[in-house]
Amino acid sequence: MQHPCYKILLCDILNPLSDTKSELVKGGAIALRRVKNNHFYKIESIGHAEKILQLYKLKRSVTIYNFQKYLAMPSFLDLHFHWVQDDVTLMPKDSLLSWLSKYTWPNEAKFKKKTYSKQKAKQFCNKLLQMGTLGGGCFASIHEHTVDHALEQFHGDFVVGNVLMTINSPDYLTQSSQNAVEIVRSKSKKYGKKYAITPRFAPTVDPHTMKETAKIAAKSGCFIQSHLCETQEEIEYVLSIYNKFKGFESINSYTEIYNACGLLGPKTIMAHGIYLNSSELKTLKKTNTAIAHCPTSNAPTKDLGLGSGLFDFKKIEKAGICWGLGSDIGGGPYLSMFDVMRSFVLQNKKIGTKVSCSKALYRATLKNAQILGLDKTCGNLSPNKHANIIMIESPHTSSSDTAESVLERVLLKNIKSRHNFSKLVKKTIYRGKCWEFD
Ligand SMILES: [Zn+2]
Repeated sequence: MQHPCYKILLCDILNPLSDTKSELVKGGAIALRRVKNNHFYKIESIGHAEKILQLYKLKRSVTIYNFQKYLAMPSFLDLHFHWVQDDVTLMPKDSLLSWLSKYTWPNEAKFKKKTYSKQKAKQFCNKLLQMGTLGGGCFASIHEHTVDHALEQFHGDFVVGNVLMTINSPDYLTQSSQNAVEIVRSKSKKYGKKYAITPRFAPTVDPHTMKETAKIAAKSGCFIQSHLCETQEEIEYVLSIYNKFKGFESINSYTEIYNACGLLGPKTIMAHGIYLNSSELKTLKKTNTAIAHCPTSNAPTKDLGLGSGLFDFKKIEKAGICWGLGSDIGGGPYLSMFDVMRSFVLQNKKIGTKVSCSKALYRATLKNAQILGLDKTCGNLSPNKHANIIMIESPHTSSSDTAESVLERVLLKNIKSRHNFSKLVKKTIYRGKCWEFD
C-alpha cells in the first residue's frame, strides 16, 4: 500500500520544548498517522521504540522505517530571509546600504521576468528542503509574481510578501504608491495569513503607502514584516528622510515611524532591532511586535556578515519582547539554520554570555512557529502536529548524553567548516512525505 495508515520511524529523537528544555530519546520511535481521506501525516506519538512498537503491534497498515542511525529533529522555521537574494549571499559587504545598492537591488531586478523568477523559485525550493527549513517569514522582490512563485513552489508553511519600494530606490525598482497599495490589497485577499505586507524598510516607502497598507493588514489579518534599526547609519538615514514628511517632523526614532504609520502589532515581525533605545523597546513590547534576530547577517564582514553589530537578546527579553532566529539570506551567508544557531551561541560566548544550544534550537523552531501563529501544527515533534521532521546522522552518543551535549556536538564540535552545515540534513519530511539527500 502506497500510503499506509501508520508510519513508524525508528530513530534517535531531539525535541525542543522551551528555552531551557529539549528532550532526547535514544533508540526512540515516532509514530505518524495518515489524516483521513488525505495523504498527509501527523505525529501521533513519540517515545522509546519498544513502547511505540508495542502500541502499534495490533494495528493494521503499519510500515516501519529503520532510521536508527539518524537523529530526528523538527524541521526549521526561518523567521527572516529574502528568497530573491540567494545569488548575493557572498558578495562583498562593505556596509548595508552599499551592499544593497551595488549588488542586491540589481540582482532583484532580474526577477521582473516571470520565467526567471519561476525557475529560481524551483531551485530555491530544493535548497530549503535540503536545509530542512519548512516555514518562515520570507521577503520576495518588488514584483508580485515572486510571491506567487514562492507560495506555489516552496514546501512548508511560509509567510511571504513582495517588498514595497516607492521612494529612494533605483528607477528600475520603484513603484507608485497606488501600485504598491493595489498589489497589497489583492495579495492579502488572495493569501490571507500566508501573506505579509512588506515595506522593504522605512527609507524606501512613503508614509501614505505605509499607512494605507497598514489599514489593509488590520482588515485582512495578514502579517507585516520589515527591517528596523540594523545599523546606526541606517537610523540616521531614515530619520533624515522622514523628518521632512509632514506630521513626522518631530519623530525621533525609527520605531516611532512604523508605529505612527500603524504598522506595529502582534502580527508584525521586524528584522534585526540591534540599536533600539528604551522608549523603542517599550513601544515594541506594548504593541507585541516580534523581532527576527539574524546573527550570521549581523556578524563581522570577516565572518561573511554585514558587520552590523551584536543583538543584545538579554535586553530584548528583559523588555518582554518576543524574538526568534532568522538567516537573513542574503545578508546572512548561509541558509542552514544550523549555521545561524551556531553563530548565535558563539557570538554570545565571545562576549562572555553563556547561551545554551537548546535555546538556539528552540528559537529556530518552536518559538518561530509561535510568532508565525503556526505552533498548533508545527515547531516541534509533539503529538497532533504535522509530521515535519529532519534527520541528521546521529552523533555518537553515550548513556550520559543529554539533549544539550548532543546539540553541542552537532553545532560546535563535529563540524569542520560552516559550509558543511548545508550537507548535514539527510532526510527532510514534510507532512509525512520524505526527501533524501546524499
Ligand atoms: Zn533582511
